[in-house]
Amino acid sequence: MNQSPDLDLELSESEMHLYSRQILLDGWDIDAQEKLKFSNVLIVGCGGIGCASAELLARAGVGQITVVDADTVEISNLQRQMAFTENDLGFYKAEILAKRLRQINPHVQINSIVAKLDISNAEALIAPQDAVLDGCDNFSTRYLVNAVCKQFNVPLISASAIGFQGQLFMVEGDSACYECLFPEEQQANESLRCADSGVLATTPNVMASLQAHHALLFLGLNAFPLRQKLLLWDGLSMKQRVLSFNHDENCPVCQAR
Ligand SMILES: [Zn+2]
Repeated sequence: MNQSPDLDLELSESEMHLYSRQILLDGWDIDAQEKLKFSNVLIVGCGGIGCASAELLARAGVGQITVVDADTVEISNLQRQMAFTENDLGFYKAEILAKRLRQINPHVQINSIVAKLDISNAEALIAPQDAVLDGCDNFSTRYLVNAVCKQFNVPLISASAIGFQGQLFMVEGDSACYECLFPEEQQANESLRCADSGVLATTPNVMASLQAHHALLFLGLNAFPLRQKLLLWDGLSMKQRVLSFNHDENCPVCQAR
């Protein structure tokens, strides 16, 4: 794990109180909590998924969280994006979310980047991370994040939500990747952008909670139940399925590595 020189090496007394319900947990201990403290995580997108997963990671004690998003808060966001209120309309999402996270947990270091993650900044943003949580709203960013995570061997936990449906998967180490799962050349056009589609208020928050939960398992316990697996959540039947997926021999991302 990357360590920041200005962080204490151990948990302070106030941190022990703050995280006491986690440290008491069977299967979770001070060692796991300290691993969280020295973890660096990038949250791609401050929409319905990014708002909730960032908040859960900040509350749980992930030491350094960077949030990146170029957008400003709009009225139609408030139905599901939990960090924002009417007072935030017109302000940058990344900055409002970062301010909220700092208020929730002053022990964690929050960085906000007001920019779209693209080819110009992806490597610099992704390479230093211990994990990337993708909650962006478009396919081009999702493929780029996958490719750069693969290039720098940075674990990726990727969540998406449209309508009543959600998906979650993890790419880690030599695992198959998002491009293996859904080859970009076969992907539907941008007409399925989450930004333009209907979504129930709860769907992105369910998926963000699962994504943040998986991130805690990985960062604290080095567990990765969804590595090279796709979790599908159906919000109408309330059913969840987990499917394994394999390397695509023709995957340009895995071949390039
Ligand atoms: Zn691949």
